Amino acid sequence: MTGPAAVIGPAAETGPTAEGLGAELVDSLRSVAHVRVERDLPLAPLSTYRVGGPADLGVFPSTPEGLAAVVRLLGAQGQALQVLGRGSNVLIGDKGVRGVVVVLRELAGVEVRGERLAVGAGADCTDVAAVALSAGLTGVEFFHWLPGSVGGAAFMNARAFDQEVSQIWRSGLVVTGAGELVQRRYAPDDFAYKRSPLQDTGELAAQVELHLTPGAPDKIRATMEHNEQKRRDNREMDHPSCGCVFKNDRAFGAPSGLLVDQCGLKGYRRGDAQVSPHHANFVINLGEATAADLRAVIEHVQRTVQTEMGHRMEPEVRFVGEF
Ligand SMILES: Cc1cc2nc3c(=O)[nH]c(=O)nc-3n(C[C@H](O)[C@H](O)[C@H](O)COP(=O)(O)OP(=O)(O)OC[C@H]3O[C@@H](n4cnc5c(N)ncnc54)[C@H](O)[C@@H]3O)c2cc1C
Repeated sequence: MTGPAAVIGPAAETGPTAEGLGAELVDSLRSVAHVRVERDLPLAPLSTYRVGGPADLGVFPSTPEGLAAVVRLLGAQGQALQVLGRGSNVLIGDKGVRGVVVVLRELAGVEVRGERLAVGAGADCTDVAAVALSAGLTGVEFFHWLPGSVGGAAFMNARAFDQEVSQIWRSGLVVTGAGELVQRRYAPDDFAYKRSPLQDTGELAAQVELHLTPGAPDKIRATMEHNEQKRRDNREMDHPSCGCVFKNDRAFGAPSGLLVDQCGLKGYRRGDAQVSPHHANFVINLGEATAADLRAVIEHVQRTVQTEMGHRMEPEVRFVGEF
């Protein structure tokens, strides 16, 4: 199966255009099996920052085949798309996203296949950790209380508590730019720090197969509780955020959060956007922050650390849409 390639993958800051979003395209999308479509979709509730304007069109596939059909249809129309998992690593602009946002949270089935979990890309990481616990499988404890989707975690090669996705994601279904549904295999060497093959190929994870091993449920549960307590101690869930804003870089000689702290930026605030007083690599929404406030704080922190310490920290958060 071939066809015109849709523009997919990493968040484009400018976003897709609204051109071609006529009634005909919307009707075609509505006719695809296992796909739901919403015009003027509010995005703030779909992001852990709780900010951002609407998308012209929100498309919700609930199966890998539905996702592939959407990519083919949009590709045939030359219509770009922006993919959103559970919105925990993005800052969506106040003016929203022009064009199509494909939201994967309804593609969320989880199946236990022996020692593997076959997981819909939009499944919530915490839910997947709970399924693994019930099945007596270890290896995915770090997903417990990780706020994103499994597909988003795969795309980002998410890591926590000395575990990362590259250790367990060995196979699965992806959707190519041409809208083909293809089986892929991965090896640990295909990944790097916060980097997965999807970031290079532009393919979308549709179903992620996690290769786990049998474990004692008591031990698995204890690890999950330990991880949860660590996140509570860091006050990570007290306010809307995107988790760590900046990547770490060994060349800096210290974690990014420590550099921010050493520059005296903990608590730095603009409007309701603030560098967390508890975790200097978090920029939090105290309630009424705009995306512009949050971005201004992030950019101020980046500039200050560069000026005072000589290190240019790279944002881990992805800026999406119009600010
Ligand atoms: C409180 C808090 C704590 C966090 N702690 C951690 C942590 O310990 N470790 C860590 O690594 N991260 C952490 N994060 C960040 C975030 O949870 C992870 O990066 C998460 O895996 C992102 O998943 P998502 O579904 O929310 O992705 P989104 O934010 O929806 O998307 C992120 C990027 O992935 C792309 N994408 C999403 N799904 C797919 C897919 N199926 N195929 C291809 N591309 C896709 C999007 O287009 C976008 O570019 C934290 C976030 C919060 C809010």
